[in-house]
Formats: sequence, C-alpha cells, structure tokens
Amino acid sequence: KETVRELKAEVLKRMEAEHKIKESLRKERELNELKTKFLSLVSHEFKTPLSGILTSATLLGKYTQEEQQDKREKHIKTIQNKVKYLNNILNDFLSIERLESGKATYKFDTFPLSKVVNEVIYNANMLLKDGQKINYPNNIDDIIVNFDEKILELSLTNLINNAVKYSPEFTTIDVDVEQKNNRLSIKIIDEGMGIPEKEQKFIFNRYFRAENALLDQGTGIGLNIVKSHLENVGGSISFKSEENKGSTFTISFPTKNNTN
Ligand code: ADP
Repeated sequence: KETVRELKAEVLKRMEAEHKIKESLRKERELNELKTKFLSLVSHEFKTPLSGILTSATLLGKYTQEEQQDKREKHIKTIQNKVKYLNNILNDFLSIERLESGKATYKFDTFPLSKVVNEVIYNANMLLKDGQKINYPNNIDDIIVNFDEKILELSLTNLINNAVKYSPEFTTIDVDVEQKNNRLSIKIIDEGMGIPEKEQKFIFNRYFRAENALLDQGTGIGLNIVKSHLENVGGSISFKSEENKGSTFTISFPTKNNTN
C-alpha cells in the first residue's frame, strides 16, 4: 500500500515539474514574440529615414555643378533632419532601458529657460511643413530655472516635434510659459488633428498610437518616457485635445530644487 502511495506522490511531483517547465517555455515564447515585435517596430521606424538619407547622399554626389548649390543644400538639410530624427528615437530607447533598469539618473542645474527653449525650437524649425510656424514665448528672457536640463530638453523636443508632426500645413504652434506658485508651466498649443476622445486615456501608454496618427511615423514611446522622467523629478504632464481642432500639452515643474 505504502509503495502505491509513494508512486502516486512521485507521479504527481513529476507532473508538477513538467507543468513548470511548460509554463516557463510558454513565458519564454511570449517574451520572444514580444522581442520580435519590437525588432520589427524598430526596423520599420528606421527603414524610411535611412532610405531617405541614402537617396539624398546619392544625389549629393551627383549635384556637383556650381549652380546646383540650392539642391545640395536641400539634401544636406534632409540628411541632417533624418539623422536627428533617428537620434531622437535612439535616445528614447535608451531612456526606456534606463527607466526599466532603475538606472535613470538626474542632475539639477541652474540655467536660463531660454537656452533650452531656443535650442528645441531651432531644431523643430527644420521639421516644419509648408506654412507652419512656431511662436516663441515672449516673456522668458529673465526666467532662470533649477531643473534637469536634459529632461526639460527631451520633454519639449517630444512635445514640439509632435505638435509639428500631427498638424497640417499652414498652422501655428504656440509655446506659452507661465510662472505661478513656484511652478513653471510650459504649454505647447497646436491646431492639428487632435486625439480622438475615446483614445485619450491610452495616450501615455507605451507604444500606444491613436488611430488618426498612424499615417505619420512614430513609435508611441515619446509621451510615455516624458511622463515617467518628469514624474521622477517632481514634474508633471497633462493635455487637452479635440479631434480635428488641436491639442494643448502642458508640462509643469517646480522652479526651485526641492529634491532637498
Ligand atoms: P509617436 O509620436 O512616436 O507615435 P508619442 O508617445 O509621442 O509617440 O505619442 C503617442 C501618440 O499620441 C501619437 O501616436 C499620437 O496618436 C498622439 N499624439 C501625441 N501628440 C499629439 C498631438 N500634438 N496631436 C495629436 N496627436 C498626438
């Protein structure tokens, strides 16, 4: 009798062990599928800009005549833009990796707000469509902030580039700055396609992209990491949006270093 019981226990143990193995194999398969999906997303995202760079570089080699200077300049600008775009995506990926591994580090510095705003708008100006323009805030020359400069730059770059990308030609993007109760708010206001109401709750989810945005290039990563980073340094992000009217994204953060 004892042996039968022992045998049953042994069989049960083996079945459990087998189940565990199957379970871990299933998890590994799921992880692999996710990795493949991610690789395919990255490859697609890189393919179009890379082929644009190749085309422009090839044409640059052909336009050797003096009078073709205009064409050369156009292609140099295209190459610069596309390299910057790819660089931004890579920075986003690196951010994810650092956020996930808990290795994101922050550094507070004192600097004029205009330094970062100038730089970001200068870069975004190169991406503008026909008749698009960005209005520079008029009241920021004296504002000194104590914040993580890289995070501010990453946040504004993502928001202003989105405003450009998701707005049609001949629209204006306003950048407004307001200082209140030791907090600074920066609003990026566009007249673009907006975010459908039903999808607004997902907008900060990683990899999420709204249905009306799918024709434009994107990874759905930017807003997710902007939010995580900002919240790690005492900042926040919010938005209001109406489909086919436009969106306003607001970031806000303390003007004094209160991380102690
Ligand atoms: P990406 O732009 O690479 O797709 P983001 O995380 O920056 O990723 O944005 C996520 C999604 O939010 C976008 O795909 C788009 O659907 C929507 N979105 C972001 N900014 C805007 C905007 N200014 N106007 C309209 N939709 C926007």
